[in-house]
Amino acid sequence: MTESATLAIDARAKALRAAGEDVIGFGAGEPDFPTPPAIVEAAEAACRDPRNHRYTPAAGLPELRQAIAAKTARDSGLVVEPSQVLVTNGGKHAIYNAFATLLDPGDEVLVPAPYWTTYPESIALAGGAAVTVATDQSTGFRVGVEALEAARGPRTKVLVFVSPSNPTGAVYRREEMETIGRWAAERGLWVLTDEIYEHLVYGDAVHHSLPVVVPEMVDRCVVVNGVAKTYAMTGWRVGWMIGPPDVAAAAANLQSQSTSNVANVSQRAALAAVGGDLAAVAAMREAFDRRRRLMVGMLNQIPLVSCVEPEGAFYAFPCMAGLLGCSIGGQRPASTLELAEVILGRARVAIVPGEAFGAPGYARLSYALADDALMEGVSRLASLLGEARA
Ligand code: PMP
Repeated sequence: MTESATLAIDARAKALRAAGEDVIGFGAGEPDFPTPPAIVEAAEAACRDPRNHRYTPAAGLPELRQAIAAKTARDSGLVVEPSQVLVTNGGKHAIYNAFATLLDPGDEVLVPAPYWTTYPESIALAGGAAVTVATDQSTGFRVGVEALEAARGPRTKVLVFVSPSNPTGAVYRREEMETIGRWAAERGLWVLTDEIYEHLVYGDAVHHSLPVVVPEMVDRCVVVNGVAKTYAMTGWRVGWMIGPPDVAAAAANLQSQSTSNVANVSQRAALAAVGGDLAAVAAMREAFDRRRRLMVGMLNQIPLVSCVEPEGAFYAFPCMAGLLGCSIGGQRPASTLELAEVILGRARVAIVPGEAFGAPGYARLSYALADDALMEGVSRLASLLGEARA
């Protein structure tokens, strides 16, 4: 398996910072806000309760599964039984469990690119094969059924559908989801729909859940979600998958043999999060929206860089292909991988090259960092890249 490129770049930036360097990191995919106090207090109380010092059911605390079912009905309109919910160690673990449960060796999974780095690796680990389907700026990085159909083969079993998207921030329109969902339904495909950024949409964009838009997909959909992005809880490691009863039960069996229950203190914190209101995420969304507009505006002023406006999540995904081969900081990067190295070396700014997402020529910059750090980082980029010479 390959190391997570996003975590790798973040680790390098942190190491440079630990060595005393003034590095601005656009690499991390996590909110810079602390977890809301009420959630932390619930965890404090949970620590003191001996019931949480013991093993609990592998599939999750019954009250948390219930609360996740209720939250799902509230937020996306999908009505499920608590038994269809499996509480996992983050959304990442939910994705692993889902592919391990759904795939037989040789099964193919359609993965629209640019994709989040974890999908192809977790598909491979489950014995499947990821078939990437390229998209670009011209369609706002949203895939259509023509491209999906062209990539479909006799072994195609699952489609990965992510809206809002990491790394592009693309948010699918309801009609587009309807078309894609119907296409999948007619071909008997499964859909893994990753809704972890559901609450981070901006402007006119609206998040929809695929099995709600296309109800005939309900029995062949696995929904992945978690508390990481909505409640600034990346370090707590609580996510979940929701699937048809047999899939949820099979995935729970797998989990009972691998990781058992998610840490109870984290589950209690997640219970406070999903059982509470959405005020904290509304405040965070406002800050992200401001930073989003600031970053995209500044990026688009850099010659040879162009950035479509992301409508969700907290990433900008500019095209930097025009800079390749140019002289920058005394070097001529031939790929965005090399360009990211030059930028880290010369400007002390960490970005994630598009290669990590199956999209060479692009780069991902998270705007989940403080406004002044964001401005300083993009200004450094602008002065380094502004000097690019053919
Ligand atoms: N899905 C997507 C699209 C993500 O970007 C992430 C985090 N980067 C996750 C799932 C998983 O998040 P976690 O494991 O922290 O819950």
